[in-house]
Amino acid sequence: EWLAVSGPRTVLLAAPRSFCAGVERAIEIVDRALAVHGAPVYVRKQIVHNSHVVDALSARGAVFVAELDEVPPHSTVVFSAHGVSPAVRTEAASRGLDVIDATCPLVAKVHAGARRAAARGDTIVLIGHSGHEEVDGTLGEAPERTVLVQSPSDVDGLDVADPTRVTYLAQTTLALDETRDVVERLVRRFPEARGSAAEDICYATTNRQEAVSALAGDADLVLVVGSGNSSNSRRLVEVARRHGTRAHLIDGVRDVRPEWLDGVKVVGLTAGASAPSHLVDEVTAALGGLGPVTVVERRTAEETVTFALPPIPAKEVL
Ligand code: SF4
Repeated sequence: EWLAVSGPRTVLLAAPRSFCAGVERAIEIVDRALAVHGAPVYVRKQIVHNSHVVDALSARGAVFVAELDEVPPHSTVVFSAHGVSPAVRTEAASRGLDVIDATCPLVAKVHAGARRAAARGDTIVLIGHSGHEEVDGTLGEAPERTVLVQSPSDVDGLDVADPTRVTYLAQTTLALDETRDVVERLVRRFPEARGSAAEDICYATTNRQEAVSALAGDADLVLVVGSGNSSNSRRLVEVARRHGTRAHLIDGVRDVRPEWLDGVKVVGLTAGASAPSHLVDEVTAALGGLGPVTVVERRTAEETVTFALPPIPAKEVL
């Protein structure tokens, strides 16, 4: 009877979706650190913004802490994929901690841009979300000369020392279209401003947004797998909604509410860069349990990016 009620459905699967190279690298770093050092391995902040990833690593002996003062002296601590400010690096050194840095190389690139701009004496306009760990880290490169803008209207209120010396940078996981609007407004106010926000937004963010954009118009409902604090996952929900399609962020299959599926023939499905792919499979399987489902993948880009791991030295045994 369920079958008759539900009718056949199509699942349009966005590709690329799920893990990016920076997230794979960060998880692998904690994995290796556990293998080399044994538990516990301390990790400052969530290694990536996904509850399933954090739970799985916790079960194996990773200990996630909010700040370094929770880490016992001379232990090993991993910095998360979102990066840290120089002040955090200094604190780790002063506490004698062994650091393994899982900062995504593409976040590190934005930090380098901040340092170059600061060395030129520019005011840095950072486009990003207040309170996000990546933004805290990038702001920390030159806190006295960096201002944060979150929307086009924030640009109007900006007060900069020299309007001819402005560099703008972006958080890696922003929405492409919204960021474009902010940059337009910035360049109108400060015609000599330099920056490449579209390049700061990383390949994985760009590809996942374009992939969900390519199917949202054909779907009755879009489900985005990702945790609530995952910036790039939340942007995917917003991108889908801008196509006029209902969209929900789900941490896993248990968050899917049956009433969302009422009358829905085509479900668009994707996952943020920090969400493991098995969670997507679980959603497809659950939909299959409700009635016949045809799964069609719609791929808009191939991804071949991989990042090398940093050295993970074994602890000296004295
Ligand atoms: Fe790196 Fe982009 Fe992945 Fe963030 S979303 S970890 S910047 S590749």
